[in-house]
Amino acid sequence: MKRDLYLHNTASNRKELFQPQENGSVGLYCCGPTVYNYAHIGNLRTYIFEDVLKRALLMCGYKVRHIVNITDVGHLVSDADTGEDKMEKGAEREGKSVWDIAAFYTAKFMEDIANLNITQPDAWPKAADHIKQMIDMVQTLEEKGFTYRTTDGIYFDTYKFPAYCDFAHLDPSSLRAGERVDMGEKRNVTDFALWKFSPKDAKRQMEWESPWGTGFPGWHIECSAMALAYLPQPIDIHCGGADHIRVHHTNEIAQSEAATGKKYVNYWLHGEFLVLDKGKMAKSGGNFVTLQKLKERGTDPLAYRMFCFSAHYRSPLQFSFENVTASAHGLSNLRKTIANLDTASGVVDNSEVQTLLTPFMDALCDDLNMPRAIAAVWEVLRDEKASGAAKRAFIEEADKVLGLDLFRVDEEQVSEVLEESEGFKISLLFKGDFTQNLKNILMEKSVLRKKSRAARNFAEADKIRDQFANAGVVVKDMPDGTTQCVVNDPEKTEKQFMLLG
Ligand code: AMP
Ligand code: ZN
Repeated sequence: MKRDLYLHNTASNRKELFQPQENGSVGLYCCGPTVYNYAHIGNLRTYIFEDVLKRALLMCGYKVRHIVNITDVGHLVSDADTGEDKMEKGAEREGKSVWDIAAFYTAKFMEDIANLNITQPDAWPKAADHIKQMIDMVQTLEEKGFTYRTTDGIYFDTYKFPAYCDFAHLDPSSLRAGERVDMGEKRNVTDFALWKFSPKDAKRQMEWESPWGTGFPGWHIECSAMALAYLPQPIDIHCGGADHIRVHHTNEIAQSEAATGKKYVNYWLHGEFLVLDKGKMAKSGGNFVTLQKLKERGTDPLAYRMFCFSAHYRSPLQFSFENVTASAHGLSNLRKTIANLDTASGVVDNSEVQTLLTPFMDALCDDLNMPRAIAAVWEVLRDEKASGAAKRAFIEEADKVLGLDLFRVDEEQVSEVLEESEGFKISLLFKGDFTQNLKNILMEKSVLRKKSRAARNFAEADKIRDQFANAGVVVKDMPDGTTQCVVNDPEKTEKQFMLLG
């Protein structure tokens, strides 16, 4: 059974009930990275939002075909199709070939994705591998009369696509030639390059033959050609950051619908920006924070994922190291609370789990409201009527969307178990996960040690002390008579004891 999922569609500017083209299966296209530099954590916020969307679709019972492109050519420094190619500029900066730059930053991006538990798409098409599809689309546009030629390339005439202004609610009167804007040979301010010619006086590293001359594709045509090469049209959902609404996605719609005569995309979702005090975080600004930088400061990458859940994806999110640290504490508390759940009651009642899941899923299905979903997780953990086993089963389901590794026990986390046995008080301090078996062994040996001492059987007491030492357990006799055993590596300790028999 499918759950109802409501998503805010940029095209209608309303929350809509999501309905895919093909029953049960969803095509999802997300604009991917331009691999000329490290991704910054603002970019990564957008990929986290898209990952939550994909996981929500899966939770709601859909199959998802997910495509993320890699832009390795054609993205110019200015969105107005002027300036250098970002990739060629990156290569120049680092004294490497464009291909090396692309390979290096693509690999770095993949590491970030893995660190953030972002699920892999079904394909990562690279622009440079799809030049033929792009040329084909430009040819179709040319045959249909949507293009014109200038000295530096083939352009899309946006005036010939009457719905051009609709998507981003642009003011049509402001788009005609003339006023103040340097348009070069462009007929309209909004016209954009489909194919750019290589400069006559310099050889580009990335260039291809085409019916119009040697050159390279425009950035916008890349996404249209790859999206339609991998997904059936209309594409169910297309995503990206909010900066793409006005230009990139408006252009994608114009050229795709002009070429095919069919609707391009049914649902458009856009993530708002991660902002600094000084404004948005941007790669071109140079002053940006990478995930690697957070890691070097000792932050768990998943704490950044958690931080992204502190605001709705359609709201700007204010970055500061302090805010991320607060989320790291929040995540650590969540994991601790989960590790300490009393799951002894064992049997899980599935209908109880479904009841616990309802507020969480309601938040998720209400346009991916993650702040509410996280609050719902805490509500369940605090619910005194729910059993530990049901809470655990609930967390297993919720973490399929959250992707926060909620069952992981943080390294610095220490759990203390206080027990009393045969009148002896024993405190067991563990770092990490421990088993009931190990707990029993430690209890038994501690009691035996105390009893041996009381009976002045020091040989036996020393033998046990040595066993503890060999197994990596530090034993202390506390002033109040409690025996304290500290176990730093429970798994290893348990193995050692098992060898003793
Ligand atoms: P790029 O690699 O620059 O093409 O951008 C990759 C993705 O990150 C796109 O979907 C952008 O819209 C998005 N993006 C860029 N800057 C930010 C930011 N500061 N916060 C959130 N998303 C961003
Ligand atoms: Zn794109």
